[in-house]
Amino acid sequence: MESIHIRCKRCRNVFAPDQRDRGHWICPECGTRNPNLLRCYRSVAHVCILALLWSALMLAMAVGERFPLSPFCLPHILHFVLCLIIVVRIYRTRAPWSISRIHVFMLLSFGSAFVFGLLQLLPAVCWPDQSSEETTRVMTVLAQYLAVYAGIFGYLLWLRSARRKCVL
Ligand SMILES: [Zn+2]
Repeated sequence: MESIHIRCKRCRNVFAPDQRDRGHWICPECGTRNPNLLRCYRSVAHVCILALLWSALMLAMAVGERFPLSPFCLPHILHFVLCLIIVVRIYRTRAPWSISRIHVFMLLSFGSAFVFGLLQLLPAVCWPDQSSEETTRVMTVLAQYLAVYAGIFGYLLWLRSARRKCVL
């Protein structure tokens, strides 16, 4: 099995991490815990698998309806294709960080899902019902939605910087 080399984020020593290792990749020189990039990229792929199943479900429901070619299907088709590309590419390589434009695909996939979801929430946020209970409910959903995506985008940013530091 051909070994993969990464650079320690602290001492810049180049080493071959044990790829079967589920935990951090420990630098043999300085003992720094470097992120297990393989596991990090695969965790993004796992989220994409869930998103893929969700898009497939939405599409199946749309096809079951009267007008299968509703424009509302388009974001789901786009999202399905983007997630499929990410999952296949990450699982087909042993060094997913070396895939050019993988972060562009990730940004497109999660970014489009974020915008599409926000557009669906927007009418309820901008033109709330009269009842204050309903307004509170909508605002809670919006806050949770923003928190989840802040977490996702924060993780993607962190992964991008980890890739820069550790990849040769
Ligand atoms: Zn080191």
